[in-house]
Amino acid sequence: MTGILDINHAGKGLRFGEAEVTRIQDYHGPGFISTFMFPDFRPEMWRQHESWLVPHFYDPAEDRIRTSIHSWLVRTRHHTILIDSCIGNHKQRPTNPRFHMRNEPWLERLAAAGAAPEDIDFVMCTHLHSDHVGWNTRLENGRWVPTFPNARYLFTRREFERWDERLPGHVPRESEQFVFSDSVLPVEEAGQMELIDEGYTVDDLLTVEAAPGHTPGHVKIRLRGHGEHALFCGDVIHHPVQLPFPELYSIFDDDRSMALQTRLAVLDDCARNDILLLPTHFADPFLCRIESTGNSCAPSYLPKWGR
Ligand SMILES: [Zn+2]
Repeated sequence: MTGILDINHAGKGLRFGEAEVTRIQDYHGPGFISTFMFPDFRPEMWRQHESWLVPHFYDPAEDRIRTSIHSWLVRTRHHTILIDSCIGNHKQRPTNPRFHMRNEPWLERLAAAGAAPEDIDFVMCTHLHSDHVGWNTRLENGRWVPTFPNARYLFTRREFERWDERLPGHVPRESEQFVFSDSVLPVEEAGQMELIDEGYTVDDLLTVEAAPGHTPGHVKIRLRGHGEHALFCGDVIHHPVQLPFPELYSIFDDDRSMALQTRLAVLDDCARNDILLLPTHFADPFLCRIESTGNSCAPSYLPKWGR
């Protein structure tokens, strides 16, 4: 692949008008077995797109997808904003060995990008799954405390209520065991949580928009630079194979058909309006523009790597 934009390196960000965007990595490497993550994944899918999917995004020998879990750090003239907070350290995640009791230098990577925990003004979570809220808190003297002491943590109301274990009728999910109590509740207890609705904006640059399906209150966050737009889409799309095959649902999608509608709307928006897509889980090179290669009856897309 040529023209790959490398923003993996500390301190090197992308400019969008007055905003600068930097990626802060928590994990990059082998992910789930393909048919676990995408039950409808078929070998002909990667073979048809082998030239760009292998080896960057798929390992045929292991039948594993390659993945990334990262935060996006956005610095505007006024504020420092963290979008999604990855897996975190020392968290008990018994159903996922990759997430369980980690000890990774994510805070050091944040520091290398020029931000201390005290510098973060807002934490915005696209949704409240374990790989998007982990660094919301850290373990201090045996207690979970907010990692970012000066931040307001912005969660959508619908998403918070989905995971609030205290509400009657709460439906637990095994893969999210402990997540609410160790990574969300301590933020509320510290008085740093703000429940927001779609349409919320930060600095007139970042706008929260509904993107339901993967979870009920999942949102995407739109960045409007001067003449250049980007979309932090969280888990609307997990992997580049879902560009040519958007119908591939993830095992973690809460409502598959709504997730597909949202995915198609986002990809169509990006393709029509030349918007840079910034997902959470695309492996290196992490972001792309989108080209539509299908039609309204059979939508399909391809990535355009590079800015
Ligand atoms: Zn995720």
